[in-house]
Amino acid sequence: MLVLVINSGSSSLKFQVRDVASHSILTEGLIEKIGMGNGGEGDGEIEGPRDHAEALEQVDAAIHEVLGDRKLDAVGHRVVHGGERFGEPVLIDNEITRAIERLNPLAPLHNPANVLGIRAIARKWPDMPQVAVFDTAFHRTLPEQAWRYAVPDSLYTNHGIRRYGFHGTSHEYVTHQAAALLDLPVEEFDGVIAHLGNGASVTALRGGKSVDTSMGFTPLEGLVMGTRSGDLDPSILVFLGRTGWSTEDIDSLLNRESGLRGLAGNNDMRSVVEASEAGDSRAATALAVASYRLAKYIGGYHVAVGGAKALVFTAGIGENSHQFRTLVGEKLGALGIELDAGLNSERSKEARVISTAASLIPVLVVPTDEERAIAEATAAVVNSSGRSLT
Ligand code: AMP
Repeated sequence: MLVLVINSGSSSLKFQVRDVASHSILTEGLIEKIGMGNGGEGDGEIEGPRDHAEALEQVDAAIHEVLGDRKLDAVGHRVVHGGERFGEPVLIDNEITRAIERLNPLAPLHNPANVLGIRAIARKWPDMPQVAVFDTAFHRTLPEQAWRYAVPDSLYTNHGIRRYGFHGTSHEYVTHQAAALLDLPVEEFDGVIAHLGNGASVTALRGGKSVDTSMGFTPLEGLVMGTRSGDLDPSILVFLGRTGWSTEDIDSLLNRESGLRGLAGNNDMRSVVEASEAGDSRAATALAVASYRLAKYIGGYHVAVGGAKALVFTAGIGENSHQFRTLVGEKLGALGIELDAGLNSERSKEARVISTAASLIPVLVVPTDEERAIAEATAAVVNSSGRSLT
């Protein structure tokens, strides 16, 4: 089955065409500056498409060049917020599209863009099966003690203010890969997965299910990220508000100017590690804060899962930065965790163990592949729906 995987942002659209049977990527691309008019800056900038429909025409042209007469069978969308309703990927119809749209207030930057992508495809290819794969869905198994904030109930009942968790597609995919590497049925996988990319979250898995995760009502909570602060005392917001900061200023501060960027002046882990190794003390502080925060979460989640059978690193930093993994590993001696310096610094694209034989908890690196997970989920939903393919 050929599946077009779409990750639609407010001004960008990432796509990949996957052959689900062979796990291969036939083509992929990124269209940027959607709706930014002729706002090309500098030489050689391509003008952005006017809207998502026009972006889709560009996707279609790019796909056609590669596929020729072969036709797409389905489209899978990464949808950021599935609220409390969606715990599984679903076949999209008008009602589902409206339900995703009703969740706009919970993910104002993401869900409206997802809906634009869905509607553009429905107009262009009305018979194409479309599937929504939700970033929050894997965390629908969180027990109430993990998803409740200690605030009056009315905030939850009137506004849906609770912890939802994100990166679910990646955490689920990596859970299965890690269990396979350990030769465990996924139902017996108790562990901790750290998805460390530009956005970062850590999840506690019990019996292969998410029982706690560091992102909350939005993807801002939890770990120190590329440009997001992660956890902080909410009174800081009140303090800034009283000092005259607007809501938009605070939003921008915490989502775009904080994290590694705020501490080290750069949101890219490679650059931060290089700067630290060259003696930059701000970079060293950023790495210390980020690795300490993660180590504390891992300790807490070891308790949450009743004793982790594995600690797993994934995503851009988790898969590639042996320096950051070392900093985290050094802080986990109390759990009996011991990284093997040789295995940890080996470069590989394969899932692998990086701890010593003596480590009480094996530490793994498992590459994530959200597009593959979305393509496979899309194929499974379409097949089980009994829909005949176009
Ligand atoms: P992602 O959002 O998963 O693409 O991850 C982006 C992050 O991964 C950025 O902070 C990158 O600096 C980091 N990253 C990617 N490749 C490497 C690498 N080879 N070594 C260290 N960090 C890396």
